[in-house]
Amino acid sequence: MGIGIIGMKPVAGGAIRNVSASIRFTLSRGVDVSIPGMDSIEEVDENALAGETPQKITDEELVKLEEEKELWGGKFCRRCGYCTPCPEGLNIPFLLLIEAYYSRYGLKEWALSRLKTLGKKYDDCIACGECLEKCPYELPIPDLMKKSGKIVI
Ligand code: SF4
Ligand code: SF4
Repeated sequence: MGIGIIGMKPVAGGAIRNVSASIRFTLSRGVDVSIPGMDSIEEVDENALAGETPQKITDEELVKLEEEKELWGGKFCRRCGYCTPCPEGLNIPFLLLIEAYYSRYGLKEWALSRLKTLGKKYDDCIACGECLEKCPYELPIPDLMKKSGKIVI
């Protein structure tokens, strides 16, 4: 239909280590523009190179990407918000984002300051399971809440 496709979060918010392969993978699957986040000039250069001269994905890279998919596919929140609203008032995507900032991006102070602004936190999840049916990625949200509550302290 002549409609362009934007590939969001091609490196899973910084979780994926094989960045170049991941970007090239999306571009080789019909994505027109891949939009990873970047926080340094080096990353801009690296990502631009992956898009500018897209080389074929090797079998070895595919295996590594598959391993990363297994690692993150079941626990990485895409922040789509389909799981909301939570009947207990938890801001599920934001709580999971705070945990990512705390444990993956080295922004502990920022994460804690944002957590303080929320009325409902990880421990307020009563594991009712309502969100489980709504998450298209089948994330184990109550478990993630419990784990996040132990990590972000
Ligand atoms: S399981 Fe927890 S996060 Fe999910 S809807 Fe119920 S209370 Fe909210
Ligand atoms: S539906 Fe799943 S992926 Fe989307 S925001 Fe909720 S927990 Fe995250």
